[in-house]
Amino acid sequence: MDVRGAGPGQSQADRHGELSSAEQSAGGGLRNLALSRGEVDRSTARRTDTAWLAAAWADPDTRVVVVEDGQAPVRFRDGDTGDGDGGRGAAGGAQELVFVSPEQAPDGVRFLLGTDAGGVVYFGVAGSLPEDLWPGLGPDVRPVGLRQAGPLLSDRDVGLMTHAVALTNWHGSHGHCPRCGAVTEPALAGHSRRCVNDGSEHFPRLDPAVIMLVTDPGDRCLLARNAMWPERRVSILAGFVEPGESAEQAVAREVLEETGIEAGDARYVGSQPWPMPHSLMLGFRARATGSLEIKVDAEEIAEANWFSRDELRAAIASGAIRLPPPVSIAHRIIESWYGAPLGGAW
Ligand SMILES: [Zn+2]
Repeated sequence: MDVRGAGPGQSQADRHGELSSAEQSAGGGLRNLALSRGEVDRSTARRTDTAWLAAAWADPDTRVVVVEDGQAPVRFRDGDTGDGDGGRGAAGGAQELVFVSPEQAPDGVRFLLGTDAGGVVYFGVAGSLPEDLWPGLGPDVRPVGLRQAGPLLSDRDVGLMTHAVALTNWHGSHGHCPRCGAVTEPALAGHSRRCVNDGSEHFPRLDPAVIMLVTDPGDRCLLARNAMWPERRVSILAGFVEPGESAEQAVAREVLEETGIEAGDARYVGSQPWPMPHSLMLGFRARATGSLEIKVDAEEIAEANWFSRDELRAAIASGAIRLPPPVSIAHRIIESWYGAPLGGAW
């Protein structure tokens, strides 16, 4: 069925459950997901242009993002130290990614991130920023990860940092050839690795995962607590796409495995890179098509329940449940179902 239609046969609740026209016009659904932003051109055609790459690295105006352990230096202004609850800090004012020059950059795997509209070239380097550089950056600069920095940075900066963290994570875990076990070396301006023994080329890998909000015929949504999470923390269901499986099949399988609910009508609503360490989150809405009786897979899910909008609002207000942080696509999908911003995040 056409789940986008809001024909005369549908209830008010059904219409309320649809995305707004503004969200639909974005092409995939959710707009401005924290880590799905960016404005620097990736300059893919330059990745094989060694002369251009060398000239760009020799240019003191070139900017370098240094990533270590998933973190990059960020300047916190307006007194916001970023020590908040992992995503609500946007109210503290825009923060900025801190770059160094190629000369200041440490040794480490180097990769081209792109070129901005003004012609400035950006690289990333996986390594430790020299200790003696930190004082010069100022007291309000410190290393943070994407969960914290994602909502605080500008489109340009968050795009650069997400790209840099993703590549750093991949380089850090793919130092050997999967064919012969020999060492691999960065190639293609840091966007691939080549085996020194057999010459085989290996590209950055992603782990696609589906994350889905399932509704029942009364437009209640299904929220669950992972067995590894503390009490009261809940989210929508999610899981990795398996080899040989479509995203839609993964939605149906994961929902059935984790809660015993048969789900269909999977509809894509948007995606967000989640390089912790290398996921791509594919967001969906889906509908329960059979029994509404929940039977949790106790190994993975501690509890799961249906929530109406009123029940969700009350549960958040009372502290009975806490939602994922706004940086997550989960939070945004829940809000898009609810129809308004929601607090009560982890
Ligand atoms: Zn090899």
